[in-house]
Amino acid sequence: MINRIEDKTGETAEMADWTHCNICMRQPSTDVAFFLTGCGHILCKNCVDSGAADPQCKVCNQKSGVLEINRHLQPDLQEFFKDPKDLLVRYQQKLNKVFEFQSAHRKRINKYHKDLQQKATKMAQYFQNEMKKKSELERQYKMTKEQNKQLQEKITRQQEELRSYKTQMYQYQASAERHRSTQVPHYRSRSPNSTG
Ligand SMILES: [Zn+2]
Ligand SMILES: [Zn+2]
Repeated sequence: MINRIEDKTGETAEMADWTHCNICMRQPSTDVAFFLTGCGHILCKNCVDSGAADPQCKVCNQKSGVLEINRHLQPDLQEFFKDPKDLLVRYQQKLNKVFEFQSAHRKRINKYHKDLQQKATKMAQYFQNEMKKKSELERQYKMTKEQNKQLQEKITRQQEELRSYKTQMYQYQASAERHRSTQVPHYRSRSPNSTG
């Protein structure tokens, strides 16, 4: 059972059925205000030391201040008078909101990191491919250079051979020329001494 008490502005505050004045054991009703002390005790208007400038709790004698229990009580203190089941539902709802809020932000930053990682992986693959292409080109270049060198050597060899042939040809021609100019005309004739 929930008891309601009205404060001066007419607003009502809900008070649980366990609420009672710690001195006279009165329970909340519409005609008597209730107070909460800083030391955690509950007192009705009749039992609270409301006249004093620095009120003292009549239960434990501490000077810890008093607050009227009504709608103006600060929220964290009001919660002490709420049904724990309602608190649980509210906290559950708040928890869900907090979870949704944080997970939306977490998703965004995670996506950003994931995209960044994918970009880095792609970039690494690109460079790896470029390096492969480069080394393949270098290999082909070396091969072509080697082939070129061999061809050049072959050409040089063949040019030397050609020169050598030419020299031989000139020598042959010169010797043939010499031979022609020194040779007497040849007549086929029998030697007078021959007996054949
Ligand atoms: Zn009382
Ligand atoms: Zn007290």
